[in-house]
Amino acid sequence: MRFDIFTLFPEIFAGVFDESILKRARDARLLDIALHNIRDYTTDKHHVADDTPYAGGGGMVMKPEPIFAAVESVLGLEIGSRKSKVGNDAEMANAPAQSPISNLQPPIPIILLSPQGRVFDQSVARELAQHARIALICGHYEGVDERVRARLATDEISIGDYVLTGGEIPAMVIVDAVARLLPGVLGDPSAPANDSHAAGLLEGPHYTRPAEFRGWTVPEILLSGNHAQVAAWRRRESLRRTFEQRPELLSRVPLSEEDRAFLRSLGWQANET
Ligand code: SAH
Repeated sequence: MRFDIFTLFPEIFAGVFDESILKRARDARLLDIALHNIRDYTTDKHHVADDTPYAGGGGMVMKPEPIFAAVESVLGLEIGSRKSKVGNDAEMANAPAQSPISNLQPPIPIILLSPQGRVFDQSVARELAQHARIALICGHYEGVDERVRARLATDEISIGDYVLTGGEIPAMVIVDAVARLLPGVLGDPSAPANDSHAAGLLEGPHYTRPAEFRGWTVPEILLSGNHAQVAAWRRRESLRRTFEQRPELLSRVPLSEEDRAFLRSLGWQANET
């Protein structure tokens, strides 16, 4: 799978993409990450990529031309008219909506990172992992010119209801969460299926050696070698953890009669969560 990341600060990504699991995935060609510096697509002498907002207000806004030029050049697209004219709201609204991915086969989502987008979670990660290639546009400062959102991006994703200084950390979050779902990226191929949020529940506790640490022991059952009992214990601990930490998740998960009985023994009342 390939990610094309458009940013004013490609150096921010060094480290995160060059260590551990993501590095191994890249070395194994399971994951290909291309960083594109938006500033390289400016055409003026001073390589200006941002400007003050029309009609005032603080901060700087990222200019549309270099962002469009970068994405069009890397993905091989051309969107809208290149003739410059000052648009008005009505004109923007009446123009037929462009669908920049429609002429690419297979379609490549062009995702703008934004605190206003749909909120990223494990199901969005799974959805994105189905694509062979994804473009991510990182805003910075006050954000990007609205025409990038309206005319270039095909999707807008937020990593949560808070505001960061730039889209670079959100892009890292998305690449990381999607990459670990790609077949072969994690050593244990069944790991993603058991992870927290995969099936809507939190994962239960993990233990490793030693069996006793400062007098605190590992649950006996994990040392028993009885796979069926271990599996049943893990299911119960997963339900317990979810009930204790995120009870609202339980209403969205298919639960067996046995699961329900166990949860009721903890004090769960199905309709109250
Ligand atoms: N003025 C904007 C926020 C700009 S933050 C507003 O109020 O909506 C600067 C950039 O950081 C954004 O363009 C976006 O790319 C990125 N960013 C900030 N918070 C984010 C979040 N929660 N999720 C995804 N991207 C975010």
